[in-house]
Amino acid sequence: MKDLLDQASSVHNTHFDGSVRFERSIFTNWTCAIADCKYCYLSTKPKHRPGNETTALRSKESIWAEALLCKKMGWHVSYITGGLRVERIEQLIPILEGLEQVLGYKVMMNYGPFAKSEIQKLAPYITGMGSAIESFDEKLHNEICPSKPLHTLTRYLEVVHEEGLKTLITIILGLGETKNDLGMICENIEKYNIDIVQLCFLKPQEGTPYANVPSPDTKYMAWWVAQLRVKFPTLYIKVALVPECTDNFHLLLDAGVNAFSRFMIYKHFGTDLAKTLVKECSSRKLKGEFLNVPELEIGDLPFGTETNEKVEIKFWQYVKRLQHKPRRN
Ligand code: SF4
Repeated sequence: MKDLLDQASSVHNTHFDGSVRFERSIFTNWTCAIADCKYCYLSTKPKHRPGNETTALRSKESIWAEALLCKKMGWHVSYITGGLRVERIEQLIPILEGLEQVLGYKVMMNYGPFAKSEIQKLAPYITGMGSAIESFDEKLHNEICPSKPLHTLTRYLEVVHEEGLKTLITIILGLGETKNDLGMICENIEKYNIDIVQLCFLKPQEGTPYANVPSPDTKYMAWWVAQLRVKFPTLYIKVALVPECTDNFHLLLDAGVNAFSRFMIYKHFGTDLAKTLVKECSSRKLKGEFLNVPELEIGDLPFGTETNEKVEIKFWQYVKRLQHKPRRN
């Protein structure tokens, strides 16, 4: 393992600038029209019926306020995400336009498969699209996600690439794969022109068949990252942070990750866990704030007066939560 990590580290240092960044995923809803993927938290929630109004949608103002918080704290917003087929395309476009105005850059979308006509409508507002792929083992995948068969996801990735957008996949380790699957996964990364791979640990969710399945450990994740880094020197590799594994996070940096997600900002900002994370990242330049909230000013917002006020109110509520101060509505 040490030789593999040394090799991966050397490949990473040759191709990247020695930094690591936190990438925040912004959720736009908390329901799903599929809602039967066996490992997923949203499969334990009431299913969304397309065409019906839902209360499980986030306001545009709160989404933009969260983006503003990320910008002020030096965190990158990678994509918007949530359950599949909840918002209509006409609802997603203004959200994406507002995000670009707040952030100064376009983000990706990571909900799962969209039709070609939908991808073409969304393409001007995003840099890429992705999906949880769960596993490239078709039998395993289709058992886990009976309403989201693998072939629909791979076709979707092909269209995303054909439309000139970046492709993102999320592979969830711990669902039943083995190290022997490495060759098959690498073949698919090549075949579908994947630009970004996000690796997550299975997070056992109450109420799912995986509730009592233990998550794999950091060394196992590092093995996967290092293998991908050596095989694909310029692939962008992200990992989802697991709080219990933070004190081994340097292994993932040695293995060649570019970024991490799932730092629980309201729970862990400024805590001992954040201090451990910062220490673990000492071999790289860690971008953004994790320990102290700097002096913040909102500056001019690009929306109308009423919307700007709503965004501002939400923004300061989020800042208070970061500081672990009680909210005042
Ligand atoms: S489609 Fe996505 S959000 Fe919906 S249940 Fe499956 S994994 Fe969860």
